[in-house]
Amino acid sequence: MNTRSLIRLQPSETPQPTPAPIPADSARFWRSPFEGESLVGAVKVFITQPAYKSICAHAGGELDDETGGILVGQWYVDTGAAGEFIVIEEALPARHTRQGSVFLTFTQDTIVDFHNEIEERFPGKQIVGWYHTHPRMGIFFSHYDTWLHNHFFPEAWQVALVVEPHQDLGGLFIRQVNGSFDPARYFGFYELETDPQGSIVHWNNLQRAAGDSHAGGETQ
Ligand SMILES: [Zn+2]
Repeated sequence: MNTRSLIRLQPSETPQPTPAPIPADSARFWRSPFEGESLVGAVKVFITQPAYKSICAHAGGELDDETGGILVGQWYVDTGAAGEFIVIEEALPARHTRQGSVFLTFTQDTIVDFHNEIEERFPGKQIVGWYHTHPRMGIFFSHYDTWLHNHFFPEAWQVALVVEPHQDLGGLFIRQVNGSFDPARYFGFYELETDPQGSIVHWNNLQRAAGDSHAGGETQ
C-alpha cells in the first residue's frame, strides 16, 4: 500500500501540550456511572457544543450501520494544577472506511485524508481521538476497537467516543494515568458551553455532576 509510509511521518520533536487555563468555569460536567470507581483518566475531556452537535447529527443520520470519524482539537496542560486536558472542537466524518452493521474500521487512506483536511481547514489543530457508533449495542469497547485505538490513536491523550444513537447513550474511553485502559468502563466529559440556551447534552446514561453550580437555569 503506497500510503503506508505517509502515516509513519511524525514530527521529529516530542509533542508537548499547550499551556492554558482549564476552562472548567465555562463548562458543565457530565458524569458516567463508572466515575469515582478508581477510574482516573490521563486527560480531562472538554467537548464544544458545535462539536457535540456534529457528532450527534452524524450518529443519528446512520441508524443501522456503524459510522464514525475523528475528533479534532487541541491538547493542553492546565497552567494551574489541574493537569492535562483536551478540547474537542470538530468532528470529521470518516471517508474511505469499511463499514458494516457490526464494525467500522479506518484505513490508512482515511488517516492520510484527515491529515490533509486538518492542514487545510484547521491548521495547528490535532487529532485528539475518534468516535464511532454502536447501533443497538450499548457503550463498550470491543477487542477490535481496542486494537484500532492503539494502532491509530496511540498517544495517552487521544480518546475514543462511542455513541449509541437509538437509546441516546454516549461515553468516552480514555487511557488512565497508570497507563491501563478499561474497555468496559467509560468516562463522561465536560460540555463547553457557548449556547445561550444552556446545555444541549441529551445522553441518558450521563448525569450532570452534583455540585455543578454553573448557571444555566437548570437544576439536577
Ligand atoms: Zn466499536
